Amino acid sequence: MNESLSQLDALSRGFRARYLRHADVEAQLRAWAEAFPALVRVETIGHSPQGRPLFVAVIGPDPDRARPSVLVDANMHANELAGTSVALAIAEDVIRLHLDEDAAPRGLSAPAAARARAVRFYVIPRISPDGAETVLTEGRYVRSSPHDERLHRGAARWVCKDVDGDGLALVMRKEDPGGEFVPCPEFPGLLVPRTLDDPPPYYRVYPEGFIENFDGAHIPSPHFLSDNAVDFNRNFPWSWAPEPEQAGAGDYPGSAPETRAVIEFVTKHPELFAWLNLHTFGGVFIRPPGHHADHKLPHEDRELWKLIGASCEEHTGYPMVSGFEEFLYEPEKPLRGDLTDFGYHQRGALSYVCELWDLFAQLGIARKKPFVEHYSTLTRANLLALAEWDQAHNGARVVRPWRAVEHPQLGHVEVGGLDPRVGIWNPPYDHLGEVCARQSAAFLRVAALCPSLDLTVESKPLGDNTFELTVRGQNLGYLPTWGFTGARALPHNEPLYLDVTVEGCTLRGASRREVGHLDGWGRGLYGAGSLFFPRSRGTTHQRTLTLVVQGRGEVTLRLGSCRTGFVERAVTLA
Ligand SMILES: [Zn+2]
Repeated sequence: MNESLSQLDALSRGFRARYLRHADVEAQLRAWAEAFPALVRVETIGHSPQGRPLFVAVIGPDPDRARPSVLVDANMHANELAGTSVALAIAEDVIRLHLDEDAAPRGLSAPAAARARAVRFYVIPRISPDGAETVLTEGRYVRSSPHDERLHRGAARWVCKDVDGDGLALVMRKEDPGGEFVPCPEFPGLLVPRTLDDPPPYYRVYPEGFIENFDGAHIPSPHFLSDNAVDFNRNFPWSWAPEPEQAGAGDYPGSAPETRAVIEFVTKHPELFAWLNLHTFGGVFIRPPGHHADHKLPHEDRELWKLIGASCEEHTGYPMVSGFEEFLYEPEKPLRGDLTDFGYHQRGALSYVCELWDLFAQLGIARKKPFVEHYSTLTRANLLALAEWDQAHNGARVVRPWRAVEHPQLGHVEVGGLDPRVGIWNPPYDHLGEVCARQSAAFLRVAALCPSLDLTVESKPLGDNTFELTVRGQNLGYLPTWGFTGARALPHNEPLYLDVTVEGCTLRGASRREVGHLDGWGRGLYGAGSLFFPRSRGTTHQRTLTLVVQGRGEVTLRLGSCRTGFVERAVTLA
């Protein structure tokens, strides 16, 4: 084996089989950058409130050269740790792709590998390092960041904290004749929703923790954001709306330093064509539009999403569904301020979510439509199947023993009970490697869709010390230079132009010429028209310009835009 490939393998911090702490994520990125400085650069794009750096790895040779680029980010939701592993796995596979010209990681064909090699990859493996660190060390639920500086704190609220001294803040139950949970008869450690026919004991269930501003009598209702203010995936600009319209919105778009860092980074990168936003769990891809029905999408964009969806499903087994049609928690009430809306509508990237880890398949639950019902319609039989699966296949990590303890505010309670970190929120360690490999296979193929500029020039002497140059710009990539139709009007989606510089000779006419956008060859899944009447479009992917140069010397041509980057050719007239 190629020596640098074995070096790459040796550098792995084990992210395909475990969930890394922040220091390990940093060490992994730095190890790659140190071993392969020509391929990997690590940048810090901001800091979390607790002072942890937010990293982006830039992968591909010549990192400053603008060219079609893609982004993968992960772990904006603190407990969704598997995304970090997948993001690092994609990074590692892209490094592998460059270390070995013959490499075909994840079954990539030679043409697709060549296309993926031409793309610059940005990898932000952990958007919420404070949140992830809290989840890994304390076990408690954090939506995004444990940071909370809300001023309106006079009312009673739950604060997650270890009660029994085992270091973890999990779940707490208190026996109560009015409780809405009962022990599962077939699996006594498991609590299930109570029915009219269930005998006591009954329980109320709270987060393991304490009540701030407790009046000694009334227990407040737990809320998932009661002690952590912002849901990062409601804090992005494009469709942002404040509380109470959108829970977790934050005070203004980008109010969290972590989301602001991401917004600023991508705003500096108009060349983003695709953006994968990793979450858990569910086993599904969620794509735009999140705000209206699919039939309002331009036809070409619908066909493009069909192609991406089919490819992603082929490589991961996960379906791709529309956010609006299958992933609204309340019908007709779109999510506000989410990352993919910002990426898609404002930055013009094919941005989409993956909810990693198909727990439902493990439990034998058939695919539901709309997909979001997977989360809201679990039966007692499903919960029992989960507990049995956990015991048989997950080392009983999820359904945990209850421990009796005296709570200073609530008296006799039991804590423990449920630890969803590995098994529910994230795949078991022995499934993680497969999740990583499959996601990488899918994303490398999305990256390979990027446009690919090409420039040729031919010179012909016209006599009298004059030359005619025939300059042909073309796009040999799948996507057009504007990306997708819905993005075409965005201000940074500028048409291509050609810059001509001369040395020792004189150009007749302007040194900058507008070339305009160039089509790609892609037509989506079924967009190429009928196979019974196969026809191409004309040469909409090409533009030919004629230049006239007086005298002998060197002519340099540079074609591109801020979005596609540039290709350059030089010709000597002698
Ligand atoms: Zn999430």
